[in-house]
Amino acid sequence: MRFGALIAPPLLALALAAPAAGAGADARVAALQVALRAQGVYAGDVDGLNGPNTAAAVRTFQARAKLTVDGVVGPATRKALGPLGRPGLGTRSLAVGRRGWDVASLQFRLALRGFPSGGFDGVFGPQTEAAVRRFQEWAGLVEDGRVGPATTLALAAPPASSPVTFAPPLFVPYTDGFGPRGARMHTGLDFPAPHGTPVLAARTGVVTVAESIAGYGSTVALKHELGASTLYAHLSAILVQPGEKVAAGQPLGRVGATGAATGPHLHFEVRVRGAAVDPLPAFR
Ligand SMILES: [Zn+2]
Repeated sequence: MRFGALIAPPLLALALAAPAAGAGADARVAALQVALRAQGVYAGDVDGLNGPNTAAAVRTFQARAKLTVDGVVGPATRKALGPLGRPGLGTRSLAVGRRGWDVASLQFRLALRGFPSGGFDGVFGPQTEAAVRRFQEWAGLVEDGRVGPATTLALAAPPASSPVTFAPPLFVPYTDGFGPRGARMHTGLDFPAPHGTPVLAARTGVVTVAESIAGYGSTVALKHELGASTLYAHLSAILVQPGEKVAAGQPLGRVGATGAATGPHLHFEVRVRGAAVDPLPAFR
């Protein structure tokens, strides 16, 4: 699949300047995948990767729309994709109520910068606005929940990385990594382990959260230096209290499946001033 002439050069430059956790991820491809999903011809991940399933979905859609089946996502295909087929990011200001290719592109960029807004659906709703505000505050921009040129430009910078290193919270291989999964963003690493396995502090820190959180279940969060924090979710037991200082390697809780979990595993996140970042590069 190739992109046609509708992609304006400024947008192309932004996309190229925004490498993601999944190297090679392109927000334009993600927006295309969101539009193809809405058309019922694509059920794969919204991962921004231009793979064979995405190309096949483009051709299926073109055949169904009685377009030339060439796999090229040009103006005719974008138009036929309907409200989610256009316009490109940066061609208009975005705020609550907007819907389109640009909103899907925005949601994908926000997620890879560590500010997920729920599902990738191309609809600018309250969750997207909340994510925009959190990103604006993080980036030192005017926090107005609207996306104009300054916010779009800031989103094109590379994602943050952890300023400190960590030890693994469990000494087992992780299964799911940081990146898009289905039509959502997975903001951490998953470590499957038997129910009750001790979960260890990845670094010395202070407990800021030791409670149940919607989706995350029983959760512990630790504050470290330089704005870094770690989060440990789906626990079956919490062994620490808010305000407590814990040493690296100290047990914080036990593996469980509380919250939105299908089986016992630890969901582990690293955040930098609130932005979720890929934990893998920070393991020493
Ligand atoms: Zn997870």
